[in-house]
Amino acid sequence: MRKDTPKHQGLRNQLVEVLREKGVNNEAVLTAISKVPRHLYMDSSFEQYAYRDQAFPIRANQTISQPYTVAVQSDLLGVSEGDKVLEIGTGSGYQAAVLCEMGVKVFTVERQKELFDHTSVLLQQLGYKPTAKFGDGYKGMPTFAPFDGIVVTAAAPEIPKALLAQLKVGGRLVIPVGAVDAVQTMYCITRKSEKQFSRAVHGDFRFVPMLSDKE
Ligand code: SAH
Repeated sequence: MRKDTPKHQGLRNQLVEVLREKGVNNEAVLTAISKVPRHLYMDSSFEQYAYRDQAFPIRANQTISQPYTVAVQSDLLGVSEGDKVLEIGTGSGYQAAVLCEMGVKVFTVERQKELFDHTSVLLQQLGYKPTAKFGDGYKGMPTFAPFDGIVVTAAAPEIPKALLAQLKVGGRLVIPVGAVDAVQTMYCITRKSEKQFSRAVHGDFRFVPMLSDKE
């Protein structure tokens, strides 16, 4: 098992300052980012770059999200300790770990078996206990619904209806929507009532595609 050291902590503190300069001001999110050893969620060959505010390749041709993106999505969820959040796209486990550090109850789905197998074990080893599922995130996790927040960490061509249906009234879906070969728009959709949803946009981002079971 690789280690977390005071040097890594120093780099994390610097990363938090970079995120503040970029406009992140949610203290719960910044505190969580200052605690999660991002280098342990990355391949050791990229370890030296782990505290740069950049996305990096991980196994199965996927990416670990950029810290700024993780911060924005975690903030937009508007959740607090004890809330239930569903994440679509476990990937490296970094976003899930940040949410766990915020005291959120995390449910996470991954469709790549290799990543699911690796990351569900890693998260346990690092002391986090999200409910992890191997499967298609387009379906959400109906058994554990409804959720206070749902965060999609892959680019969706459209907003999946099943995910809207699994939100609590007052809950938010944070999802990048758009074509995969372009930038995507970050949407934050709030369930106002059983049938009403409101939508806000929060800038452009770039994600790997959200794929369905057939692809
Ligand atoms: N949250 C991750 C980001 C990983 S990249 C992190 O912090 O590192 C996005 C992930 O979404 C990839 O691992 C990809 O395999 C996964 N993914 C894509 N489509 C999916 C789907 N339909 N269901 C579940 N996971 C999906």
